[in-house]
Amino acid sequence: MSAERSVPDPAHETASVERAGTPKVICDACPVLCQISEGRTGACDRWGNFNGVLTRVDPVVLFTKVAATAGELTGFVESEGWDGNPLPDAPVFVTGVGSGTTYPDYKPAPFIVSSQHAGVDMVTVVTEGIFSYCSFKVKIDTDRWLGPEQATVRCRGEAVGHVTTAEYGSQMLSLGGVHHLTGGSKKEGRVACELMMDLGNRNPVELAIEGGAQLIVEAGKAPLVNGVEEQRMRVGCGSATIGIFARQWYGEVDEVVVVDDHITGVLTEHQAGRCLDMPASGIKIRGKKSTPGRYFQVANPGTGWGGTDITDPLAIVNGFDAKVARPGARILMVSTTGEDAAFFVLNEDLRMLPAPMPDAVRKVVERIGENCEPALATVLFLAGAGGSLRAGVTENPVRLTRSIKDLLVEVTCGGAPVYVWPGGGITLMVDVLRMPANSFGWVPTPAIVAPIEFSMRLADYQTLGGHMDRVRSVEDVLRNERVRVVGWDGLNPWPLR
Ligand code: SF4
Repeated sequence: MSAERSVPDPAHETASVERAGTPKVICDACPVLCQISEGRTGACDRWGNFNGVLTRVDPVVLFTKVAATAGELTGFVESEGWDGNPLPDAPVFVTGVGSGTTYPDYKPAPFIVSSQHAGVDMVTVVTEGIFSYCSFKVKIDTDRWLGPEQATVRCRGEAVGHVTTAEYGSQMLSLGGVHHLTGGSKKEGRVACELMMDLGNRNPVELAIEGGAQLIVEAGKAPLVNGVEEQRMRVGCGSATIGIFARQWYGEVDEVVVVDDHITGVLTEHQAGRCLDMPASGIKIRGKKSTPGRYFQVANPGTGWGGTDITDPLAIVNGFDAKVARPGARILMVSTTGEDAAFFVLNEDLRMLPAPMPDAVRKVVERIGENCEPALATVLFLAGAGGSLRAGVTENPVRLTRSIKDLLVEVTCGGAPVYVWPGGGITLMVDVLRMPANSFGWVPTPAIVAPIEFSMRLADYQTLGGHMDRVRSVEDVLRNERVRVVGWDGLNPWPLR
């Protein structure tokens, strides 16, 4: 004989409590468990008590491919005369933005939505994940020196990240992360969390690098370094610039030095000059010679020419070899963005005297600038979704991880494509500019809230132990939920393609 015990399922119930005679609802969307009075919202402002019902303040965001709905159509369910079917035959994708969270993790995700695409039964599991293990990787296109690698990055005086590697024409920062969120003081955690939310929501943030620059960074915008808006991302290092433009300088100059904090290039020593049979100029450059015509460490890093600290290019010239140098030689010194350039003629004493820059030379300098791309700050959200969040998708979480690795499950964040790292867990990266505006929220634990969707064939969902009893149609969502329908901009691939 066996006895069955039913498992309580409070997923969609509103729990309430009475304090000092005032009824409150208990928000169970995160471990904080706010008790919210009528007409008020909880600590994160995402959930409120409206008419005694716990309600997600923002509507859930849906994307549709129908051209007529490009832009935003809000409040469908409240629209007078609406027949409940505003998107006939239109592909619709339910995003995690505004979808809400379920806690503790054994509860199914807030939306598990079935739909048909290209004749295939699909399902999308939608939630707003609460991420403690997450950070933002920021790429700042600049030649200028922002600070030493590993230096602490501060926001409002609190440590919120560090300087990581320099990349080609860019400096990378790592901001946020679990150690700043929960491993330091309460204030550090709060400031880090606010900074992360601002970055994700494409707001400008002010940062100070210890021993380095002050920055204002905003996703998709030019960074401000020490109050100056960065304009150009360098065309390449000094050596690359020599290689690219050597033929265009040939015959117009006798020497070119491209000043760069990484590799300063010297045309007549460089392989590019040798291939053009240019005679050596005899110039001696400060720094460490790497290979012919390529010099490291010609100056200290800074915000001057080519990311060095020099404002006078002659500071890196150590004179000339008298046996080789020829008075009258025409010498161009230029930075890797073409923003700084000066022309000189060598006199009888082998001193470089400033001279007017010939038009033909100026044209090439301008072309360096033309070949620079606009300097931008780009922001990627990096998060680990491999933990308990998976239980909202399936009763057997490891199967979700494996299915993602086997490419059976498409992961998106607010409908934006993500890169899932190889190896264990579901560690993903996504460009915040591809996500809907204001996709990010926070909870006071502190942690970041971000939308995430898992799309797959309905049959595969069943196989991996999905919450089949919670699958509902997209039509049901449209009829019964507060939704905001947004036209698909076509910049991202359609998640259910
Ligand atoms: S912080 Fe927000 S999600 Fe968490 S319990 Fe309070 S209202 Fe709910």
